Amino acid sequence: MELWQKLIRESVHTVDHLVEQFNMDRKTAEDLDEFFQARINPYYLSLIRYPGDPIWLQCIPDKVELEDFTAIDDPLMEDAMSPVPNITHRYPDRALFLVTSQCGIYCRFCTRKRKVGDYEKISMKGLESAFDYLEEHAEIRDVILSGGDPLMLTDTMLEKILKRLRTIKHIEIIRLGTRMPVVLPQRITQKLCNVIKKYHPIYVNTHFNHPWEVTPESTEACEMLANAGVPVGNQMVIMKDINDDPAVVKELMQKLLKIRVRPYYMYMADETKGANHFRTSIETGMKIVEALRGHTSGLAIPHFVIDAPGGGGKIPLLPNYVLHMDEEKIILRNYKNEVYSYKNYADKNNPDGFGSKKKKKAQAAKKSVPKKKTEVLVLDEVES
Ligand code: SF4
Repeated sequence: MELWQKLIRESVHTVDHLVEQFNMDRKTAEDLDEFFQARINPYYLSLIRYPGDPIWLQCIPDKVELEDFTAIDDPLMEDAMSPVPNITHRYPDRALFLVTSQCGIYCRFCTRKRKVGDYEKISMKGLESAFDYLEEHAEIRDVILSGGDPLMLTDTMLEKILKRLRTIKHIEIIRLGTRMPVVLPQRITQKLCNVIKKYHPIYVNTHFNHPWEVTPESTEACEMLANAGVPVGNQMVIMKDINDDPAVVKELMQKLLKIRVRPYYMYMADETKGANHFRTSIETGMKIVEALRGHTSGLAIPHFVIDAPGGGGKIPLLPNYVLHMDEEKIILRNYKNEVYSYKNYADKNNPDGFGSKKKKKAQAAKKSVPKKKTEVLVLDEVES
């Protein structure tokens, strides 16, 4: 058994564990277990510094989850966009391929609770029809392995899936959506990297939410992936009391760049059953973006998005930097609130823009109209 598998085995995950380790009332622990079970592996548990800290909030079940059952189970309508089991096909050229229901920890904010935890939530029986679907749909050039967490599969199982995907000619890119580099970095072994290397181009998107998650272990994991030629991106979710603070997010983004992880997306939290206590205002998100743009390298700035409820996909949000725009110019403010004007040139999309034939003609006509100078001349003539 590999170290990461041993750590999974040693996780806090039963009602008894919750009662003993967190002094939880048994009935509450049972209700929480029924709603969404716990899994806190010893590595992630060791990152907690005090009860209620940003690591604790992400992984320790809380009775507040039981008070919030208004949101729907599948806020992003992934199931409605699932043509066959294990596949969600929302965007034209990409497909989400769910390959396991297991994760290194069970995050309390998870939007995919309906698919995560019990083994039967994502069936391995669905893999064959998923491969068939991917083979039949030549428009799919990008497949994202997710779940659950695809790195909960053994190297052998993962390789089987990667190998099979690589037999499908139209699939150009494979992505792994995994929290393992963050929550169980021991999973990133040289053996795993050697498997991944054989099936490039493979991208990894991981999910750091707080600077305390950047540890010597997670640094090593991300660097091993980068050294195996895997571009690693990060998706962060803004959550109350975890990272709803511009200074915390800036520190995280800067730390990520140092460990060769590129900030990719920063999400507003989804409307998720049992997790609405994590949600923040959009103003908080805007404030965070404003605190990044101009104040740190553009490489450290992720796209700020809302994953639209009802399956609308990711919609980008930006603070308002445009004060005015017309066909000839745009008036902008920068991160220091200084105002600048930039000429809006003519082209096929803006035929009447600055420097257009029409504008040049109008300017020339203006120049040829006798102006004040002529009048002066006339006056001179009269005087003489
Ligand atoms: S790792 Fe991802 S899928 Fe698994 S519980 Fe956390 S957020 Fe959900």
